[in-house]
Amino acid sequence: MSKEEMVIVVTGGSGLVGQAIKKVTEEENRPNEKWIFLSSKDGDLKDRDETRAVLAKHKPTHVIHLAAMVGGLFKNLKYNSDFYRFNMLINDNVLETCKDLHVKKVVSCLSTCIFPDKTTYPIDETMIHNGPPHESNFGYSHAKRMIDVMNRAYNQQYGCHFTSVIPTNIYGPHDNFNLEDGHVLPGLIHKVHMAKENNTPFVVWGSGKPLRQFIYSIDLAKLMLWVLREYDEVDPIILSVGEEDEVSIKEAAEMVVDAYNFKGEVIFDTSRADGQFKKTASNAKLRKYLPDFQFTNIRDGIKETVDWFVANYDTARK
Ligand code: NAP
Ligand code: GDP
Repeated sequence: MSKEEMVIVVTGGSGLVGQAIKKVTEEENRPNEKWIFLSSKDGDLKDRDETRAVLAKHKPTHVIHLAAMVGGLFKNLKYNSDFYRFNMLINDNVLETCKDLHVKKVVSCLSTCIFPDKTTYPIDETMIHNGPPHESNFGYSHAKRMIDVMNRAYNQQYGCHFTSVIPTNIYGPHDNFNLEDGHVLPGLIHKVHMAKENNTPFVVWGSGKPLRQFIYSIDLAKLMLWVLREYDEVDPIILSVGEEDEVSIKEAAEMVVDAYNFKGEVIFDTSRADGQFKKTASNAKLRKYLPDFQFTNIRDGIKETVDWFVANYDTARK
């Protein structure tokens, strides 16, 4: 029996998650699936005409929608207006065009940082719209929440099969290692790299006390492929390691120090913001579907990311 022929366009295909999906699908090499990985060079998805042109050109049956203005705590603190506007424009253009092109399924990406700041823990999929997000990233969060609203509205009015996933903090090869704009793990990796090279202290921003669940980009890619192929709900699903695998920023920093075998001084700069203290998410829904999925141990994932960063230092985003 021949499998359904699929043409899958990945928006944001040049980024951290897009490149992980590329690696996994190249290894799988499924003959019924044609994969196209887009970057901003193929078209600015903030622009409706460019979005239509690039998607119409490839005629996707399926879309994984990753493209977004993305950044860590310190970039979010500076650009809430851009985060809101750019992501609203991108999401509106992509989903409306997918509706017009009769794309069979769209999987978009939310984030656990969009949940209400004042909440009970663990957070689950039913709680997205229960209250205001943390003030540090309210622009990004409100724009991302609207994807869930749009998915349900397109389903109700047009019968579209648009859904979303909610990853926790992601890390891995091809991340943005920029010190000011990036997320915490790539920032810490870049900083230890420089501290080791220059014989200077390694400075962690904030108190190191906040807690995060980190997911390795390759694990996330495998789970997103399962969502694309098997998951039938419009409602989102949290893609996360378990609550017991949550670590503090201090512990994450120590793992980076170990991966580099860095022996110098480690300083916590408490004049820098801590951001949200925690956003502990439940992966119970995921575990109901996939009880046996094996997550990469965070120490192994950090080591692989450090090895990639060292090997690709000249060309990595930084
Ligand atoms: P990333 O590495 O920064 O990649 C962003 C991607 O979006 C790049 O391919 C970029 O293209 C593309 N892009 C940005 N603006 C665009 C525009 N105007 N037009 C066309 N393409 C545009 O991001 P990521 O970490 O892979 O994130 C993927 C998704 O996961 C995003 O939706 C993000 O919100 C979500 N997410 C990320 C995290 C995390 O910790 N990183 C956590 C939760 C959720 P260029 O390469 O050409 O710039
Ligand atoms: P968040 O998870 O959405 O808050 O975003 P980040 O990935 O940027 O993580 C922010 C947390 O890591 C805060 O508690 C920061 O104080 C802490 N942190 C420590 N050092 C760094 C760093 O070099 N870069 C970033 N982005 N955050 C850091």
